[in-house]
Amino acid sequence: MFRTFLIACAMAPSALAAEASAPVTIVIHGGAGALEKGRYTPTEEEAYKATLSEALDAGYAVLEGGGSALDAVETAIILMEDSPLFNAGRGAVFTHEGKNELDASIMDGRTKAAGAAAGLTHVKNPIRLARAVMEKSPHVMMIGAGAEEFARRQGMDFVKPSYFRTELRWRQYKDALKKEKEAADEEKESDAPHDFKYGTVGAAALDAAGNLAAGTSTGGMTLKRYGRVGDAPIIGAGTFADNESCAVSATGWGEYFIRLTVARDICAQVEYGGKSIAAATTDVIHNRLQQSGGDGGVIVLAPDGSFVMDFNSAGMFRGVKQGDRKEVAIYRE
Ligand code: ASP
Repeated sequence: MFRTFLIACAMAPSALAAEASAPVTIVIHGGAGALEKGRYTPTEEEAYKATLSEALDAGYAVLEGGGSALDAVETAIILMEDSPLFNAGRGAVFTHEGKNELDASIMDGRTKAAGAAAGLTHVKNPIRLARAVMEKSPHVMMIGAGAEEFARRQGMDFVKPSYFRTELRWRQYKDALKKEKEAADEEKESDAPHDFKYGTVGAAALDAAGNLAAGTSTGGMTLKRYGRVGDAPIIGAGTFADNESCAVSATGWGEYFIRLTVARDICAQVEYGGKSIAAATTDVIHNRLQQSGGDGGVIVLAPDGSFVMDFNSAGMFRGVKQGDRKEVAIYRE
């Protein structure tokens, strides 16, 4: 389905023919990191790709039906939160104390309204709560017990903390703890959190009315310390959307993404610097993030339907659906 703008009727007939149209589009990611080819078996790869594909279809169906970019983003993210494969909702990574603490945010490119929630331990779908914070409260961000109290009043689904736990993540947590201890014994810095920290999910969408939205949801980083909050729920770092420039969802080493305000910087370079989303993304991911020592990636979507999925890590779970075009990928191809 295509949204079509007829250039003002007062224009010359030739201009009337010059229709600007942007295809409805959804772009998603399922985390970036040390995803070298061969890291997963073909069966595992298929499972990841099937879920990415399902999330794309679900989000795209919303757009095709004339639904909003916000609804498409929320729909795609919920599907990935509910999947045990990704580090968001069920399947989230563990904190140093062996808990799951979830963060999410969403932004509406039309109104520039935004909502975020962090440090959640019982809310089944953090992205839903982020949206409720945006639409049903006067605030942008809520954390911990207060955020969950608000979620309860909003009638959201609650689960026991054990709902988020998967055996794979628990094993990764135990491995990471072991590596950390070994490194401490040898008095060197552990690379364990680095190996296991990614898997966040995110989406950006462009709807038939020409509106952009973006959202991100995560369990954060393995072995994160009590109360640590990453970039995913920080508007301007992990998520940003503005119809005047672009929609971005990020994944990677959150501390760097916060310091560099990655999502906002990409859109600001487009808005103030007149750059294409590709040029802005290259600068932020391959120059600024790279030089700072951080790693990860972004999905970026522009109002004209052009998009970028880029990263400076080995790989990033990602996908796009736009008209007949549908792609999902994991590694650098
Ligand atoms: N950015 C997330 C965080 O730092 C982690 C990730 O993207 O996997 O919490």
